[in-house]
Amino acid sequence: MLLDLSELLSGNCRTRTYEAKVSMESFETAEGKYDIVTKTEPEITVTATGNKKFLVTGEGSVTLNMPCGRCLEMVETPVDYVIERELDFNEGNEQSDERLEEMSYIDGYHLDVDKLVYMEILINMPLRVLCSDDCKGLCFQCGANLNQGECGCDREQLDPRMSVIQDIFKNFKEV
Ligand SMILES: [Zn+2]
Ligand SMILES: [Zn+2]
Repeated sequence: MLLDLSELLSGNCRTRTYEAKVSMESFETAEGKYDIVTKTEPEITVTATGNKKFLVTGEGSVTLNMPCGRCLEMVETPVDYVIERELDFNEGNEQSDERLEEMSYIDGYHLDVDKLVYMEILINMPLRVLCSDDCKGLCFQCGANLNQGECGCDREQLDPRMSVIQDIFKNFKEV
């Protein structure tokens, strides 16, 4: 959803509150793609603070389906976000790369709600979730979910693939 900021930019009004809508159905990062199972739509307020600068505030939440870091079962993970960002429409400012990225949710006279909320979720989401603190994870021999019972494998012996990984870690330490 795009919010029209033209009234604010022209100075015709000082503050506006929008009933925003987040249209994305899933959340994709370099790590994976997570379904959004529920969301609380954000109410977004844009206030002119003078000199072509604006303050964007609001809050909302989404619930992401994220795989447990041990057993890969999906865990419904609530992510709350609070928006508080400054917009500066002054031209001729030093535009650092970081600032350009910050402003990527501005498209002409419009604020792109999905892009803004995407950044907020990225900042607030957990890197790793567990279905429970004592999740037993997967058997590295047969892949069985050990929360659902013992599979009977002998896990005392190291999987050869695991020992390769251990070697890699050892090499890291030696560097
Ligand atoms: Zn788990
Ligand atoms: Zn097993």
